[in-house]
Amino acid sequence: MNYVVEAPRIPSIPVAGSQARFPVHRIYCIGRNYADHAKEMGAAVDRAQPVFFCKPADAIVTDGGDVAYPQATSDLHHEVEMIVALSRGGRDIAIENALDHVFGYGVGLDLTRRDLQAIAKTKSLPWDSAKAFDQSAPVSALRRVEASDHPKSARLSLSVSGEPRQQSNIAEMIFDVAEIIHELSKLWTLAAGDLIFTGTPADVAALKRGDRFRAELEGIAVCEGAIV
Ligand code: MN
Repeated sequence: MNYVVEAPRIPSIPVAGSQARFPVHRIYCIGRNYADHAKEMGAAVDRAQPVFFCKPADAIVTDGGDVAYPQATSDLHHEVEMIVALSRGGRDIAIENALDHVFGYGVGLDLTRRDLQAIAKTKSLPWDSAKAFDQSAPVSALRRVEASDHPKSARLSLSVSGEPRQQSNIAEMIFDVAEIIHELSKLWTLAAGDLIFTGTPADVAALKRGDRFRAELEGIAVCEGAIV
């Protein structure tokens, strides 16, 4: 293909135990998926109306890379989340078949400019500037899943410079992985290469330059890096 400007590279994530990488198509995120986090944000949980937003695919930071403290904020927050990578897509995917679309799992941070999000909420504006900024999605390597082996329960935790910050279990999610895929596919045509951030538990807090983060989905993935 003869492009008029240099073609963007395809963002990709390492796969544990493989030399091949997972190419990222889109990044979908669900908000308010743990009751304790929704409560700390003063938000109501609506089972009928999941909250979705997106990040650009090139927001990922992989392979333990540093995260540059972003511009335009003085309140960068961590949100530790399980991530789901899709091997197949479609629309109107039934809950019963949803897990057949999963390539594997990992862990990452949904970094958030909380000050900009607070302004957006106050003014009923979209969340893009709060959520969809450069390097807003550090992620672990992905662990490929076997059909019979989807995690229903696993400890999800984050420490910052050695101190525990967030800890919960993915069993606490309000919408489980199959339900998230089902709900997303009612709104978008999902595709191989899509990545889903599945929401954060309580105790989100600020990160500063020099912090080292370690996010873990126990037995599945670790994501480490530094804010510089
Ligand atoms: Mn989040």
